[in-house]
Parts: sequence; C-alpha cells; structure tokens
Amino acid sequence: MERLLYLDHAASTPMRPAAVEAMTPFLTDCFANPSGSHRFARTARRAVDEAREQVADVLGVLPGEVVFTGCGTESDNQAVTGSVAGRPGVAVTSAAEHHAVLDPVVASGGVVVGVDATGHIDLDGLTEALRAAGEVAVVSVMAVNNEVGTVTDLEAVAAVVRREAPGAWLHTDAVQAACWLDLRTVTPLVDMVSLSAHKFGGPKGVGVLVVRGSASPAPIIRGGGQERERRSGTSNVAGIVATAAALGETDAERATEVERVGALRSRLVETVVAEVDARETVPAAASVPGVAHLCFEGVENEALLFLLDTEGVCASAASACASGAMEPSHVLAAMGVSRELAGGALRLSFGHTSTVDEIDAASAAVVSSVRRLRGES
Ligand code: PLP
Repeated sequence: MERLLYLDHAASTPMRPAAVEAMTPFLTDCFANPSGSHRFARTARRAVDEAREQVADVLGVLPGEVVFTGCGTESDNQAVTGSVAGRPGVAVTSAAEHHAVLDPVVASGGVVVGVDATGHIDLDGLTEALRAAGEVAVVSVMAVNNEVGTVTDLEAVAAVVRREAPGAWLHTDAVQAACWLDLRTVTPLVDMVSLSAHKFGGPKGVGVLVVRGSASPAPIIRGGGQERERRSGTSNVAGIVATAAALGETDAERATEVERVGALRSRLVETVVAEVDARETVPAAASVPGVAHLCFEGVENEALLFLLDTEGVCASAASACASGAMEPSHVLAAMGVSRELAGGALRLSFGHTSTVDEIDAASAAVVSSVRRLRGES
C-alpha cells in the first residue's frame, strides 16, 4: 500500500474509533428523529441529552449553554451575525481570524484590528477600536490560529473588552483549541465559544456554540425550534453522540498528548531547520504543539506541496479552502510576512495518530523537496 504521511490534522483529524463506535447505532438501529414522542424518539433524545451533558462537562459550562450546530463555520457565523442582528453596535475582530469569523464581521460593516508579528491581536489597537466604535455588539478573537498555531492570551483580551466595552459579548473561535487547551480555562473568560468536531476526532458537519450568561445571539437558522429555539433543524443524533465521545477522549488524553505531540513538533522543526534554510513563523512557546509553520525563501508552496504529495506527505500551505486555490494568506500578510516569504509557506500539523516514524519520514521528504526546488540536489 502507498505510504501516507498525514500532517494535516489542523484541516481535519482522523475520527477516533470510540467516536465511530458511539455513532454507529444511531446510523443503523436507532435512527429516529429525537423531536418525536414515541419511545424510539425518546431513546434518540436521551442520547442527545447525554452527549450535551458530556460536552458541557468538558467545557465547564451548563448543558443548557451548549448549542449543537452544523459546523464550526456556522457556530462562528451565529456568534457574529446573530449578535449584530439582535442588538445595537458593531462587531470587532482580529485580522488573523478564520474567514468564518472575518467574513461575517466585514459583511456587517464591523472593525478589524491588526495583529503583531506572531499573530497576537494588538491590544492597544483593540483598545482604540473599542473606544472609537461607540457601541459594540460583539468582539470575536480566536483562541488558537489555524494557520500558524498562535495561542491568544484570552485573559488579556477579555480584560480589555470588559474595561472598554462592558456591554459587548466576547466570542472566541476555539475550533483549533480543543486538542491543546483545557477548555474549562477558556469558557469562563468569554460569553460564546465555537468548536468543530472534525478537528478533535469527531465527524465533519457537527459544531458547538457555547452561549453563556447574558449572551443570546439571534438564530441564523430558523424553523422547527430545535436547540431551544437557538438552532433549528433535525438534530444530527449520530454526529452529536460521536462529538461527545471524541471530545471526552480528547480531554482525557490532552495532558499527555500536549507533551507527546510537542516533542514531535520540536523534532520535525529542528531537523528541517538544521538541514535547509527555513524560518519558523511562530516559535514553539507561542504556538500549540499541533502546528509547525515554516517559510522557505525561494520556494513556491504549490510546487512544494506537489512534490510532498508525490512522497505521500499530506500538508497544506494556507488554510484549506473549498476551491483548493492557493490564495496568498491573509494571516501571514497581517503578521507582516513578506509576500515572497509567504509564497514559500508550509503548515505541518499533528494529532492523535502522529508517530515518530511518520514525523521522521515527513522531515526527510520536506528537506529533499526544498533542496530539489532550490536546485541544491
Ligand atoms: N475556525 C477555525 C479556526 C478553523 O480552523 C476552521 C476550519 O478549518 C473553522 C473555523 C471552520 O470549521 P468547520 O470546518 O467545521 O466549518
């Protein structure tokens, strides 16, 4: 069988066997609509209720604060669009956000604040933006950046937001955080949190939006009134059950995985940097263990990804997008990385199935591909 070296966990990580096992009965035997009143429906409803409790436990919130959605993008959209729709004021965010946040903020006429060279939101810029904006409906700052892995100091962000815009709801896109940060430390700082199941070993097409305290973003999908009128649509019972199983396992393994995967990240970066000229975009201390972002001057990332693909290495350049087209990264541009350097950007991301052998084989493939593209071999 062809060798596959999967270093694209930030795009999607393989489903955890426990999640597959948990969801299977709800795809086969217990397929009922949980909104019904018969016993079959009640079994499905109980499964959703239990999953909600498990998710709430990992997040350190109440079950009633957990809203299941159709994906991380939808959760982000609801947090932003649902906030500006239901109350006066603008949306404010950082320039390094995923498009799932950035686009609804821009579409609503909101404010985008710059970031520093490591991708952290400029706190002085945020202060100024909140003062200038007058009324602010929502501030959204991601917990972990999906391209470069930067971890936001949410405590510092929350302090600025609570001081300058006490009436604003604070949202964090924690889609890339679940594997690496204890979410119980994140939720008390904010009013809304978004997650996506396929980033932590659950299925694609399931998201979570935590809505706490006084926050109550308007629904963006209306209809049957599921999820306590906050997100209509027949519940994806199997997906929700699998999400809870995956999140529970992720939470239980997190401390050891942070150590293990952090060592893999260091091993890869050290090997590559020792062998070829490369720039680590964000140092390990500022990043999650699951992402290594490198820029290779004089290398075209499309050509690099092509060569890596022929070696069986799955990686990415910027965040994956539907068209597959290589657009210049708005994150790297916001961080002040030159267009030339950004053109040679490579994101290698790791997760629960990553092994030392895989990392070593991938490092060797990166080194030989970069050398080849530079005409050094
Ligand atoms: N936010 C971040 C930070 C992401 O990395 C992603 C996916 O890459 C999303 C949102 C969107 O999540 P989903 O794929 O579930 O729509």
